[in-house]
Amino acid sequence: MALSTKPARPVSPNLPQPEPVFEGPPAAAGSAWRTALKQAVRDPAELCRLLELPATLLPAARRAAQQFGLFVPRAFLARMRKADLADPLLRQVLPLDDELRAAPGFTADPVGDAPAERAPGLLQKYSSRALLITTGACAVHCRYCFRRHYPYSAAPHSLAEWLPALDAIAADPTIDEVILSGGDPLTVVDDVLEPLVRRLEAIPHLRTLRIHTRLPIFIPERVCDSLLAWFSAAGSRLTPICVVHANHAAELDDDVAAACDRLRRAGVVLLNQAVLLRGVNDSVAALDELSRRLVALGVMPYYLHQLDRVAGAAHFEVPEAAGLRLVAALRERLPGYAVPRYVREQSGAPYKVPLID
Ligand SMILES: *Cc1c(COP(=O)(O)O)cnc(C)c1O
Ligand code: SF4
Repeated sequence: MALSTKPARPVSPNLPQPEPVFEGPPAAAGSAWRTALKQAVRDPAELCRLLELPATLLPAARRAAQQFGLFVPRAFLARMRKADLADPLLRQVLPLDDELRAAPGFTADPVGDAPAERAPGLLQKYSSRALLITTGACAVHCRYCFRRHYPYSAAPHSLAEWLPALDAIAADPTIDEVILSGGDPLTVVDDVLEPLVRRLEAIPHLRTLRIHTRLPIFIPERVCDSLLAWFSAAGSRLTPICVVHANHAAELDDDVAAACDRLRRAGVVLLNQAVLLRGVNDSVAALDELSRRLVALGVMPYYLHQLDRVAGAAHFEVPEAAGLRLVAALRERLPGYAVPRYVREQSGAPYKVPLID
């Protein structure tokens, strides 16, 4: 289905896929992360058992998981408190009946991805940078995901299918940064990513390679030697930037710290984007601690996103007025570099729109 003919679909069957779409070499040393992906929890009953949650949750969790599957790596589960439905990490991944309730203004493509497609899998909304939908697979299914209805199955799945996107980038000297996004680009094996990156390096006007990923948080083993080899400042002609996505300080355990340390030592600039989420991080204390923990890990807070109004996520929304009060309070407590930019994505706007000066 072509993205440019956006259908009005309340719910799409084209969900991010729980498995990487690329088959790499057989699992071996260095592929611990692929094992972690394979062993992720997908069954709501198993989630309830492991976290000692009441089985009364199950019918609703199963209904919501039919629309957008449950998918959560075990290492992330281990950071959650048991028997606590209010756990801020659990809330990000637990399917709830709330998702099935229609809410006015919440749609399948809230950020206008469809009209921004320049070539299959290549989105450009802003000047000088373009975003490559590298895969539909993720290391986790975030219940509030703004791409939960994106037609991933129509996106390219191999180097050959990326050629039109690569040609479009090569033909446009105004683009100097490519963002690998998805889905999560680091669910793709290095044997596929490296040749893609080599092609990008060969485009003379490109300067920066940015990756948007949650893997260093959810499966820190992904920051392995073979990844660093092609992504490091030394290994790549392009300046490497990695934008991770953590919403709560409890996500950032010692393994995540070690992964961030490896990236930093390889010369990768680290930034974080978070989404303001009701019941997860909508308090001054939670946002303050998130920023402090990120800075301790050498990760600069970049964006705090107002929730994109995607169908199924209305129960996560924090009103903008409340968000403004939170960010104002952060400013009184934190150094300027630790206060993320509070922004909203507005369809058709030439940048992510700041909600506070
Ligand atoms: C968010 C986004 C970017 C990145 O925006 P920055 O402000 O550069 O971080 C780029 N392209 C698309 C399509 C996006 O949605
Ligand atoms: S928010 Fe990111 S990591 Fe989470 S499901 Fe969406 S694309 Fe995947």
